[in-house]
Amino acid sequence: MAVEIARAASGDVAISQPGSFAAVTTRLHDGTPLLAVSLYGLWQKVGSRLIESESALHRSISDLTPLLIRARGKGVLIAGDLNLYLGHDDFWAAKYATVFDRLRAYGLQLVGPARGEEDGPLPGCRCGSPATCRHVQTIHYPGHESRPATQTDFVLATPDIVGRVARCTTIETGETRAISDHNPVVTTLR
Ligand SMILES: [Zn+2]
Repeated sequence: MAVEIARAASGDVAISQPGSFAAVTTRLHDGTPLLAVSLYGLWQKVGSRLIESESALHRSISDLTPLLIRARGKGVLIAGDLNLYLGHDDFWAAKYATVFDRLRAYGLQLVGPARGEEDGPLPGCRCGSPATCRHVQTIHYPGHESRPATQTDFVLATPDIVGRVARCTTIETGETRAISDHNPVVTTLR
């Protein structure tokens, strides 16, 4: 049972940040069970200027831990706006990597979205590493179009689900730009 953390007992799924994730157990078309999680990295202010999301994500991963352990041997897919970068060489790199490292402990691998080898680097990418960049722009900053291209949305899954991913890509149209500052990420499973 999901319970607000102050009232949660052992065995409950404790919710420390209401609204930061939604989880559902479902089945794929062939009956394969799947734990699907929508995860949002809540911004946390550090002083007056800096913001980070890894502390909130670690709280959510703690909340999700009983579900991830219970799903052992079954498929898990986690997707969402994590509000962090991956593969950047900067102040945040090691801190943000802890989130992906921790999810990897539960078998979750990065699915994407990512550019193919033949696509080359994302033009103007924030990572600044054209040799290794496979980022996909998932967020826009209306009114600040000169900002570097940025990816903060990611999909992760356990190996059995990774093997069933037919595609993981973004959609960007006039309609998507009108309703959100993020490009929707679509993951199709076979
Ligand atoms: Zn990049």
